[in-house]
Amino acid sequence: MAFLPFYIPTNKRLKVVIVGGGYAGIAALAALTHYEPDIDITIIDPKEQHLKVTHLHETFRYPLSDLLVPFADLEASFGCRHVRAALTLSEDTLRQWQSDKYLVVNDETVTFDYLVIAIGSDSKTFDSQENVLNLQDFADTAGSALLTKYLSQDDNNGEPSISVVGGGATGIQFLFEIQQFLCRQKVRCKLRLINSGEQVLAQFPDGFDAYVKSRMRDSDIDFYPNTYYLGQQAGKILLKEKKTGEQFDLSSNGSLLFLGKKQENLFSANAVGQLVVDQKPLNHIFVAGDCAYFNSFGSNALTAQSAVRKGKLVARNILRHSGRLKILVPYLHRDIGYVVSLGSADAVGWLVAEGNVVTGLPALAIKELVEAQYDLLLMGIDTYII
Ligand SMILES: Cc1cc2nc3c(=O)[nH]c(=O)nc-3n(C[C@H](O)[C@H](O)[C@H](O)COP(=O)(O)OP(=O)(O)OC[C@H]3O[C@@H](n4cnc5c(N)ncnc54)[C@H](O)[C@@H]3O)c2cc1C
Repeated sequence: MAFLPFYIPTNKRLKVVIVGGGYAGIAALAALTHYEPDIDITIIDPKEQHLKVTHLHETFRYPLSDLLVPFADLEASFGCRHVRAALTLSEDTLRQWQSDKYLVVNDETVTFDYLVIAIGSDSKTFDSQENVLNLQDFADTAGSALLTKYLSQDDNNGEPSISVVGGGATGIQFLFEIQQFLCRQKVRCKLRLINSGEQVLAQFPDGFDAYVKSRMRDSDIDFYPNTYYLGQQAGKILLKEKKTGEQFDLSSNGSLLFLGKKQENLFSANAVGQLVVDQKPLNHIFVAGDCAYFNSFGSNALTAQSAVRKGKLVARNILRHSGRLKILVPYLHRDIGYVVSLGSADAVGWLVAEGNVVTGLPALAIKELVEAQYDLLLMGIDTYII
């Protein structure tokens, strides 16, 4: 059993329920079993497989199955149990669970000492329309198959065109993967990016925008800045100019929407990760990942790095809270970089300090290193320093 500072266990075997088996949930699972091998853990997640979502844009190159880790495998590696269900969470329910120390799922009563809520956050979407794809569609079917289907229904009887909407990290990563996919398939197709702002990757340092725009020019990708998406209909995308309000359309076989995450239904946590409801912490319910806003100096960025660190921290604090000392440690993690890939051989990112912009193969190598670290965690090998 690995040593955890401020943790002196009691004789009781702990029961923990983790709701949500994404990055934060899996990090919590790995840390709990690392420091306390004799622990009873149930993961509740509606899916059969954990999805390595940070690779989702790569399904234009690799099969989707490469990104899926069956929960059955995680059960075997970590000695936990997976229950397939989506829980409905509200403040009232959570308060009730805190007092009952059990919840009912699929007609089964599951008791616990601690609960971890790690359900991620939903992407923004429009009402479903024909020939429109959202991030969720790519979680179900590989990008290569989805795009091939679109290109085969050429309503415009001319050069087909695809519109990617959203110039954030996800939209940009998909855009360049699609561009390379079309080249590999030798398909003549107009590719364009629609963005509501002037800059792409606006949340990152300025160098990101300039680099991506130059790569879009090199790759013959059209760019429509300051433009709002209104809808997709009968082989056309409907758009609105942000400054003038003028509406216009362009021929488009399909629109791929990457509109960012909804910043709603976030759970508020104190500095040590306990859920706060009506300004009071629920001592036995912890939250982690994209669904959790920690009131501390640590990063609340919606990134896998922060999700993993929050998951690990709440796991350690659960053990400390269950032990004899009950000294909990605050969340202080700051992300030390972020890399956005631009296809298989290029990337742009920052490392250590936000002004330190890295591009090309070195940036790609950093991204692969970070991804490899998470792959090791899934195998039960923790190489994260904190
Ligand atoms: C294409 C793409 C690329 C990305 N690239 C990067 C990157 O390079 N670097 C980086 O740091 N971040 C990246 N991110 C962001 C990163 O993926 C997220 O920040 C991270 O997944 C958040 O982890 P999480 O555990 O909070 O949520 P998730 O990983 O989304 O997991 C949530 C889990 O909860 C389950 N769930 C949802 N609702 C319920 C419910 N009601 N009951 C039970 N279970 C539920 C879901 O099935 C899911 O398994 C990327 C995201 C995308 C989409």
